Amino acid sequence: MLNLKDPTLLRQQCYINGEWRDADDGDTITVTNPATGQAIGTVPQMGAAETRRAIEAANVAWPAWRKKTAKERSAILRKWNDLMLENADDLARLMTAEQGKPLTEAKGEIVYAASFIEWFAEEAKRVAGDTLPSPWPDRRIVVTREPIGVCAAITPWNFPSAMITRKAGPALAAGCPMVLKPAELTPFSALALAALAERAGVPAGVFSVVTGHSRAIGGELTSNPTVRKLSFTGSTGVGKLLMEQCASTIKKLSLELGGNAPFIVFDDADLDAAVEGAMASKYRNAGQTCVCANRIYVQDGVYDAFAAKLVAAVAKLKVGDGMEPGVTQGPLIEEKAVAKVEQHIADALSKGARLLAGGQRHPLGQSFFQPTVLADVTSDMLVAGEETFGPLAPLFRFKDDEEVLALANDTEFGLASYFYSRDIGRIWRVAEGLESGMVGVNTGLISNEIAPFGGVKQSGLGREGSKYGMDDYLVIKYICMGGI
Ligand code: ADP
Repeated sequence: MLNLKDPTLLRQQCYINGEWRDADDGDTITVTNPATGQAIGTVPQMGAAETRRAIEAANVAWPAWRKKTAKERSAILRKWNDLMLENADDLARLMTAEQGKPLTEAKGEIVYAASFIEWFAEEAKRVAGDTLPSPWPDRRIVVTREPIGVCAAITPWNFPSAMITRKAGPALAAGCPMVLKPAELTPFSALALAALAERAGVPAGVFSVVTGHSRAIGGELTSNPTVRKLSFTGSTGVGKLLMEQCASTIKKLSLELGGNAPFIVFDDADLDAAVEGAMASKYRNAGQTCVCANRIYVQDGVYDAFAAKLVAAVAKLKVGDGMEPGVTQGPLIEEKAVAKVEQHIADALSKGARLLAGGQRHPLGQSFFQPTVLADVTSDMLVAGEETFGPLAPLFRFKDDEEVLALANDTEFGLASYFYSRDIGRIWRVAEGLESGMVGVNTGLISNEIAPFGGVKQSGLGREGSKYGMDDYLVIKYICMGGI
C-alpha cells in the first residue's frame, strides 16, 4: 500500500540505545491513515520504564559524544542529512500516509527537515567562546559554551519530521544526546528518521525514540533529574503542564506553542500578492500549522475586492487523499479537529458572519473538510480568540492602522503575523508594533532553517533554527584564570 522503495524505513519498533525494541509488556498502538481510516501498522505503547532506560542510555552515551570534535559530529549529521534527502520519496510517502498532507507538501517538509540537520552540522563548528577584559591584573576571564547534557523532546503531528530535526539537529551538533517522544498519531516519520540516524553513524544512546503513553513518557522526561533540558512543540495547554512538571528539577525549556496569527491587508496592498500569501499561509497543511493565518483583517477600501479574489482562489483547491496527484488539501488529522472547525463556523454564523465558500464536511467523508471563507467576522466570535487549526479563513474589516494593530495584538499569543502594504513608513510602524516573534511583510511564507523561529507572550520560549538556535542546547561557563 505504501510502495516504499526501501520498506525497512517503516519501523514498528522503538529505537532505544541503538536497539529496536518492543514495549516491556508487548502493548502496541495502531496508527491509521486519516485519508482512508485504514491501519498502516503499529508502534510500541511504551511508558515510564522504557523512557527511563532511554534517558540512562543517553547519559552513558553523553561523554563520548561531547568529546568528539565538532567536525566529527558535523560529519555524522551531514551524513544523516544526505540520507534523508536520498530517501525523501519514501519519507514523504510515510508522512502523507500517517499525517494526510499532500505528497508534494510532505516532500517539501522532508527537504525542510533535512535543512535543519545540514544547517546545524555547519553551526557545530562555530560554537565559539569569549574572553572578557578583566578587572584584576593577575586574572583573566574566559567564557566557554558547553553542551547542556541529556535533552528530551516532545513533538506534534502537524510537521512529523521537521519539528524533530529542528530539535535534534542543534542538540546533537552541540554535543547533547536526545530522547524523543513523537506524537502518537505520526510516529512512523520519527522512527524512519531514527533508522537513518543509525545508518549515518549516530552512536547508540545519542538519539532514542520512545512511542506510547504520552502522560507516562512525558512524566518521566520532565521529572527525571538526568534530563537537563526539554524542548516541546505543541499546544499551549500541554506546554504549561510540562513547564510545571519541569519546575521541580529546574530544566531549561524551549517551548513552541500555539499561535493566533493576524494577516493584515492594507488598502495599498498588491491584492493578488496578498491573496497568494493568504492561500499559502491559511490553507497549507489544511490550516494545521501554528503559523497559519488565523484572523484575516482587510481594510475597508479593499475588503470586497480581496474577498472576491480569495473566494476565486479557494475554488481552485483540490481536496482529496494526499497520495493522489494534484491534491492540494488533504484530510484533517482526526475527527476532533473537524469538530473544532465546525464549532468556529457555527459560532461565527450565529453571531452574524456570512458564508462565502465551503462551510461543510467534504463529500469524501473521513475528516475531509471544505475550504471555507467567512466574511463580516468580528472580535466577539470564537475564531478571533482561538486557533482554528483548520481550513477556515475568517475575514474581519478594519478602518485604520491604529485600530488594526490593537486588534492584532489583542491575544495572549504572539507567534507569527503577516501584513501586506507598499508604504515604507507604514511597513516599519506596523512591523515594529506587532507583538509577535515573527513578521511576514508582503509574504505568507516565512519558515526556513536560517531564520529564528519562535514566539513571544504565551506562544513560547526560545528560538529554533538560525545562528541563535544552538544557544538553547548550550550553557555558558565562566573560567576565572588566576595566578598569572
Ligand atoms: P496538538 O494540538 O499538536 O496535538 P498536543 O500538545 O496535544 O498538541 O500534542 C503535542 C505533543 O505533546 C504530542 O507528542 C502529544 O503526545 C504530547 N502530549 C500531550 N499531552 C501530554 C502530556 N500530558 N505529557 C506529555 N506529552 C503530552
